[in-house]
Amino acid sequence: MNDLPVLTHWIDGAPGTGSSARTAPVYNPATGAVQRLVSLASAADVDTVVASAQAAYPAWRDASIAKRQGVMFAFRELLNARKGELADILTNEHGKVTSDALGEIARGLEVVEFALGLPHLSKGEFSENVSTGVDVYTLRQPLGVVGIISPFNFPAMVPLWFFPIAIAAGNTVVLKPSEKDPSAANWLAALMTEAGLPDGVFNVVHGDKEAVDALLVNPDVQAISFVGSTPIAKYIYETAAHHGKRVQALGGAKNHMLVLPDADLDLAADAAVNAGFGSAGERCMAISVIVAVEPVADELISKIADRVKGLKVGDGMRGCDMGPLITEAHRDKVAGYIDIALADGAEVVIDGRGIEIDGEASGFWLGPTLFDKVGLDSAVYKDEIFGPVLSVLRVASYTDGVAVINASRYGNGTAIFTNDGGAARRFQHEVQVGMVGINVPIPVPVAYHSFGGWKDSLFGDAKAYGPAGITFYTREKAVTARWLDPSHGGINLGFPQNT
Ligand code: NAD
Repeated sequence: MNDLPVLTHWIDGAPGTGSSARTAPVYNPATGAVQRLVSLASAADVDTVVASAQAAYPAWRDASIAKRQGVMFAFRELLNARKGELADILTNEHGKVTSDALGEIARGLEVVEFALGLPHLSKGEFSENVSTGVDVYTLRQPLGVVGIISPFNFPAMVPLWFFPIAIAAGNTVVLKPSEKDPSAANWLAALMTEAGLPDGVFNVVHGDKEAVDALLVNPDVQAISFVGSTPIAKYIYETAAHHGKRVQALGGAKNHMLVLPDADLDLAADAAVNAGFGSAGERCMAISVIVAVEPVADELISKIADRVKGLKVGDGMRGCDMGPLITEAHRDKVAGYIDIALADGAEVVIDGRGIEIDGEASGFWLGPTLFDKVGLDSAVYKDEIFGPVLSVLRVASYTDGVAVINASRYGNGTAIFTNDGGAARRFQHEVQVGMVGINVPIPVPVAYHSFGGWKDSLFGDAKAYGPAGITFYTREKAVTARWLDPSHGGINLGFPQNT
């Protein structure tokens, strides 16, 4: 272990070590080998990084819009030209297959492109002559240093949801990526430096709870954007808000796909396989529950099972459909739900254990797994499993299906499959979920619409990117101005009125 390279923080436009000697292993999940270590910052290290971002803030805030946009345009071009390098890093540390890694980057690039419209999107408003000779106008100004804490499952896309908008708006950033696949963050930070970003505007600090806690209490951090599991999201929201910060904390999910009897079952089966097993089910917008309105369940399950037979599971660099899970512990936990399903009386239609793999046997593998007749009280239904595990629930009617979805504690994404426009319209109206697909299984909004769930899938009132991102990373100032006219003046102690 001592001979392994150590990935350090990115501070002031260059790699930087901290005072902490703690490290964590970074695996290649397709081989199970530790390929490098990552530094785990102490609280003092985090304070040093925040101080660097704070020092860079005044000059970046005061840089012209043209200067800031010049950097963002250059970054967009560099990222687009070199996305293959980043995709390799993602596959190497996360395990997702190359096509999926490129898809993640494409969705991140969308947000960079959205941020290029920031000069227009952050314009204030102006009202002339609200009172005689008095004008009122609003400005949108940056906040200062903002902290971004991201999960393992989208090591590039989730940071890209946030930092392009934050930086284009004039903030400086401290990113704390997942310690499980940390290299993408440094690569992105280095690319921003190459694009001309001044040192200290975008920093990366690696670490675990100690680093996160230090960010949450540092008085110079004005806002926190978090994405991760629900218990941590709730903790982040409460702690950061307690310390006076603006917070958006996106949490976990259990996404249902409601299939009505009139649906195109081939389309629904394709969608279920793509959304259930893509990225090994490690997506917050993965479909993990199919709510089948009878009598479609048997036919749908058989179509899904046929499709799963053709999936190739293995090393993401070898053109496979599905890669490994992120760690051995996570793979074991996910596989453990197969025994739970059996104990709880569900049927195991496809058991993902012991399947044929195109890769090293030591990788963290689990094949696609499908359960039928899962009970609402089973942990298989209630827990966010976050693996290639799809559960089928059978219901008698549309109304029963919507009731199941609305009773879930999560409300991230959902989808309905139907050819009935009226049913789809009713569903979009009454379902208690933040992002809805109609014959679309993974309804991640494009960058100019905001992303976020309801209920335990998002704490705080700000969704990510899109218009909500601009609002989150700026604060409005309202100016009431009068350029003196000799006809005005005199003393009046009453509350200002407009005449
Ligand atoms: P996680 O909650 O374990 O970790 C997320 C981040 O929090 C990481 O940077 C991690 O270092 C940090 N962290 C972990 N434990 C902490 C603690 N006790 N105190 C402070 N910080 C801590 O999540 P994960 O396993 O990396 O990611 C998977 C989860 O993220 C799933 O629940 C998934 O649904 C969710 N997710 C949600 C969305 C969304 O948009 N809602 C998107 C992607 C992932």
